[in-house]
Amino acid sequence: MKRIALFPGSFDPITKGHESIILRALPLFEKIVIAIGVNEQKKSFFSLEKRKKWIAQVFRDCPQIEVITYEGLTVDLCKQLGVNYILRGLRTSADFEFERSIGQMNKKMLPDLETVFLLTTPEYTALNSNIVREIIRYGGDVSAFIPEGLDVSEGLKK
Ligand code: ADP
Repeated sequence: MKRIALFPGSFDPITKGHESIILRALPLFEKIVIAIGVNEQKKSFFSLEKRKKWIAQVFRDCPQIEVITYEGLTVDLCKQLGVNYILRGLRTSADFEFERSIGQMNKKMLPDLETVFLLTTPEYTALNSNIVREIIRYGGDVSAFIPEGLDVSEGLKK
């Protein structure tokens, strides 16, 4: 069976923190599916199309990486795709507490599923999409926090 990992998240927008986790996980898996979760209850800052386009752009030279969007339970998506690993990044102890309960619940629902955690690199510990959105909202420069070459300002155009 192929070692395929699913990396779920909102990626609103993708940051250097996400990029780093994905690149560091590449040697561990034959394929990584980046799955942008659509949550009807949570309005996103950037459109789904833009978020997907930017991720595809960042990893355009990585044939091992695929980008998809999904609605519903992550375990159902794993079942549907035949994926046995979920990849997640850990920044803080708060991340750990949150991820532990989700990981344990997911395993209860799908016993063959393993959640694989990679620790953030120190320079990205404080980085999250929420902060990046705040900086963008108030016109700040986020180029140090998002992958090289991305222009997220196009996502602000109506
Ligand atoms: P965010 O928390 O930035 O809104 P997501 O909800 O899209 O990001 O999270 C997707 C995954 O990426 C989660 O496992 C999260 O822990 C991980 N992640 C996000 N930012 C970082 C970072 N700076 N370092 C390591 N992992 C990260």
